[in-house]
Formats: sequence, C-alpha cells, structure tokens
Amino acid sequence: MIVDLHTHTIASGHGTRDTIADMAKAAAARGMAVLGITDHGPATCGAASASYFMNLGSAPRERCGVAVLYGAEVSILEGGALDLPDSVLARLDYVIASMHMPPRRRSRGSLTSGTAESNTADYLKAMENPFVRVIGHCDNSQFPADYERIVSAAAKNGVIMEINNASLIPGGWHQIPGISNEDNYRRLLALCREQRVKILISSDSHGNRHIGEAPLAEALVRELQYPEELIVNRHPEMVLNGA
Ligand SMILES: [Zn+2]
Ligand SMILES: [Zn+2]
Repeated sequence: MIVDLHTHTIASGHGTRDTIADMAKAAAARGMAVLGITDHGPATCGAASASYFMNLGSAPRERCGVAVLYGAEVSILEGGALDLPDSVLARLDYVIASMHMPPRRRSRGSLTSGTAESNTADYLKAMENPFVRVIGHCDNSQFPADYERIVSAAAKNGVIMEINNASLIPGGWHQIPGISNEDNYRRLLALCREQRVKILISSDSHGNRHIGEAPLAEALVRELQYPEELIVNRHPEMVLNGA
C-alpha cells in the first residue's frame, strides 16, 4: 500500500520499540507516499499521555521523502467517551476511534464485552465527535455490535470504516473462537457498499515490520470488488487534503 494510516510506535507502550523516524525510514524503503502515526490513547496500558499527542503538531510533516500525518487511535470508553479530550484531538491530523480491552471490561464469564446494544450506542456516540474520522476494527468479535446502525451513522457523519489486516490474521487479538472476523467484514462491507461509505485498509503495524502491508484485508476488498473511489488508500491526495 502507498498509504497506511494506522501504525504504532514505541509511544503506544507495547509491541515495538520503533520510533517515528524508524517508521518513516521503513515507509520510504517501501516506496510509500503517506504514513500515518496513530499511537494508542492513554487508557491503553503503557500508552503515552496527552502531552505526547499535543507535541506532534511540531513534528516534521515530511520524513525521508514520505508525507507523515500525526493522529491517534483513541479508545472508545464505556459510555462512548474517548480517552483524549477534544482540545487534544483538535490538534491532530485525524483520529481513529476503536474499542479495546482494557479499558473496556470483559463481561462476567464471557470472552466478550458489553452487549450489541451498549457497544453500538458507544460507537454511535464516538462517531458524533467531529474529530473522529475513522472507526477502527469494528469487526472485533469481542465487542458485538449492530453493523447496520453503525454503517448508517458512518454515512450520516462522513466517518470512514477501517478494514484492519491484523484483525484477519488467524489467532489475532481481535478474535474469539467460533466467530469469523472475515465474515464480520463481509457483512460490514456489504452495508458500506450500499451506503457508499469510504473504507480505509490498514496494517495496524506495531513497529516498522508490517508498515504498508495488509495482504488479507486487500485480498478481501479485491474479492468483493469494493469500489476503488471509496477506498481511501488509493487516493493519497484526498488523504493529504483531509479525506
Ligand atoms: Zn486497535
Ligand atoms: Zn492499532
């Protein structure tokens, strides 16, 4: 991919020790046009505080010939609030909002968290925040949700739905036994197509190893012949002008 807008550095507190400079070098070596850095918001264990995100505004907009955008992957908390205040989100290039456990809690005796009703309400509330541009990995089977209502809200609010490669890797973090995240994405993509909702394919690479790589997500989107004009990754100029 020439555009990857969901990647994590050492500032996310887990999964890598790579810095933004390490990430940009790898993106340049792969011939990428746009690299988006989206570290986890502070509710995720070990992640950076608000001051890290505040300071991204003074970071270079281009590194190693690659355009670098600075965002955040915030967590949607129980009740639908986000783990960074609007005053910080306003200073970022874009915001991906996703559900993670923790901070969301596992339901008693279950591998899942919340109900489809409560999770959907929280996604909808997050999408009402004007700084949220993308909903991340809502295929995650740990957080059952009503995709029809989510996609309708995405269409209404102009929010992009992410197709996350890490979600599709067998045995990945976002899965529970007996539920196929690929099936979840097939349902989601069918609804997105009906409502002409834009999608973002991403690696969710923690560190530089998988930047620009999303083979499973790409294969699914190609198989379903999702309209190219609705795939944000195909349009770097659109991304740089605020997709
Ligand atoms: Zn995530
Ligand atoms: Zn992520």
